[in-house]
Formats: sequence, structure tokens, C-alpha cells
Amino acid sequence: MRVRVAINGFGTIGKRIADAVSLQDDMELIGVSKTRPNYEALAAVRRGYPLYVPADRLEVFEEAGIRVAGTLDEMLSKADVVVDATPGGVGAKYKPVYEEHGVKMVFQGGEKAHVAEASFNTLCNYEETLGKQSLRVVSCNTTGLLRIICSIHKAFGVKAVRAVIVRRGADPKENKRGPINSIVLNPPRLPSHHGEDVKTVLPWLDIMTAAVAVPTTLMHVHFLNVKLEKRVSREDVLGVLENSPRIVIASASGTGIQSTAELVEYARDLGRARYDLPELVLWEDSITVAGNELLLFQAVHQESIVVPENIDAIRAVAKLETDPAKTIEKTDKALGLRRGWLS
Ligand code: NAD
Repeated sequence: MRVRVAINGFGTIGKRIADAVSLQDDMELIGVSKTRPNYEALAAVRRGYPLYVPADRLEVFEEAGIRVAGTLDEMLSKADVVVDATPGGVGAKYKPVYEEHGVKMVFQGGEKAHVAEASFNTLCNYEETLGKQSLRVVSCNTTGLLRIICSIHKAFGVKAVRAVIVRRGADPKENKRGPINSIVLNPPRLPSHHGEDVKTVLPWLDIMTAAVAVPTTLMHVHFLNVKLEKRVSREDVLGVLENSPRIVIASASGTGIQSTAELVEYARDLGRARYDLPELVLWEDSITVAGNELLLFQAVHQESIVVPENIDAIRAVAKLETDPAKTIEKTDKALGLRRGWLS
């Protein structure tokens, strides 16, 4: 039986999750929901996704000439799982509505952690989240940090992490904020909230982060300093990362890629839809090991990195798969994700 999935909010994240759900053979996309009759609503209809709207917005959509399949309540009554991809903080307001319909819930990282029973990352805590009523897929930066930390932790043990996050100023579609001609302390206080967010999944970890926002829309870049439980060699680290799911390793000297602009251009050249790079990208040239310390640069495509984890979170709440390795394999095959060296 296929699990019936509804998506509330069809913006940057929601539209990508809708496409990803449509590609899974154990899921059925019941519909997507929007409040405004804009170009994204038109795109949903053009892509053949049943479009639902809150009952008090039916008239607005009718006036705009956009065909709707029904109301948000009707969509929720047909679903087993709702993925909330509304703007940060709005999901919490919808939670009572979802609860009324008895659907399982997957929220995004813009919500406070307490919105759901657990914060989620497949590589870190899949088994602990099986069958929960609600999960929160952590933000793009936190997902990037957790992928590398949990991959390294399983192999060598991680004692502490210090990280600097260089954040994109805005998403490419935005025209109300950024990019600005500045480097903004984002936030000014140290440590930044990103480390605390990592701890919602790994409460035992000693982690501190700092973040600045810069005038770009393409990707985030992280600099990490990881203290390991034991001394390892650079080859040991590369050996583990080469086989870690959802991580690709780029050689700047071998490929000429030493910027987010070139990474995005490569994704375009490969014909990736929307130039998405849901894989975490590590720069091989930056990987440095000194005793039990590991240093590296990594890049995070903020618009797409959380998509595979959302698919796994649906499988976790619906208990479609108990083995994290199997859901990763299934999701990544359907989405065409790579691991190992960028080639
Ligand atoms: P977005 O603004 O691109 O999309 C939000 C969608 O929700 C739009 O379709 C909008 O029409 C709809 N919406 C707005 N108000 C609504 C309401 N009251 N009820 C129902 N729908 C409403 O936002 P996004 O970037 O996709 O972010 C969604 C969530 O994903 C947030 O929690 C965000 O923090 C998180 N997230 C965003 C990114 C990113 O880089 N954009 C990355 C990871 C996680």
C-alpha cells in the first residue's frame, strides 16, 4: 500500500518535496496547498498536482482563474501524512488543524523544535523516530552539519565541533531581502543558534557555531573544525567520506571547482532540475587532519538539501521502512543522488 502524502505550502521547499514524493513507488501525492494564487500555484496546476486552498480563499483563486481541486480540509481528510512547508512559524499554527484530521506530520526547520516529537536527520536518528506522530526535519545548515558529523562519528567518534557558517543572503527567487553589499553578523551573538539546533538531534555533542550572511543567493559554505575521539589519518577520513551517502567530494585542483558559482554551473551542465544539489559537497583539498583534529570546507545547497530527509521522515512516521540504510538507498535511487567523488 502506498502512503498518501499531502503538502501544505508550495514554495521553495514544498515544490521540491512534491516532485520527490511523486518519484517514490511507496508514496502517493494527494495534493498540494497554497494560500495565494501566484505563479507557484499556476506551476502546481501545470505540473498536474491537485491544488487545494483554505475554504476562505476559494473565491480569490476562482477570480484569478486558477482551477482548484478543493479545500485544505478536503486534502487533509484524504492524507495519511502531511508535510508542512509553510514559512517558518506558520506550521505551528496549522498543527491543531492537522491533529483534528489525525494525520501524521512532518515539519520544517523554520519551526521551533518543540513543534514536533523529535527533530530528524536520517543518518543520525532514523530508528528513534519510527512511528512518531510528528517530526521536524532540521534546517538546511543543520542538515549539512549533521550529515558530516554523523558520518564521521560512526567511524571515529566525534568529541567536539566548532564551525563557521557563511550563509547566503536570500534565496534566488526572493526580491524583498538581500543580497546586500555587506557581511552581516547573523546573528551577532556567539555562539549562533545552529549549534543548538544540531543538539536537538545530538544532545550529547559539544558544538559551537558562528554565522555571517553574505551577498549571494546560491549556496552556504561551512568551515568545520572537528575534534575526534582518536588520532586518524587523512586517508582514513577520505575512505569514510567516499562511502558516506548524500556526500560528494570535489577536488578543486582536479575539477577547477573552488566556488559555489562553479558548483551550481556544474549542476546546470548535468541538467539537474532547478540546478539542485541535495548532496553535501566537501572540498577534498581542504580536508586536513592534525592529530585528532579534522578541518574542512563544505557547501550546502539550501533549496534542496533537506528534500531527501523529508522523504525519509515520511517513511519514518508511516513506518514504511525500519532500516535507515534501506530508506536512504530507496530515496537516493529515486532522486538520482550521488556519493563519492564528484565526476
Ligand atoms: P517559501 O516562502 O518559499 O514557501 C512557503 C509556502 O507557504 C508558499 O507556497 C506560500 O504561499 C505558502 N504560505 C505562506 N503563508 C501561508 C499560510 N499562512 N498558510 C499556508 N501556506 C502559506 O518558504 P520556504 O523557503 O519553502 O520555507 C518553508 C520552510 O522550510 C520554512 O520552515 C523554512 O525555514 C524551511 N527551509 C527553508 C530553506 C530555504 O533555504 N528556503 C531551507 C531549509 C528549510
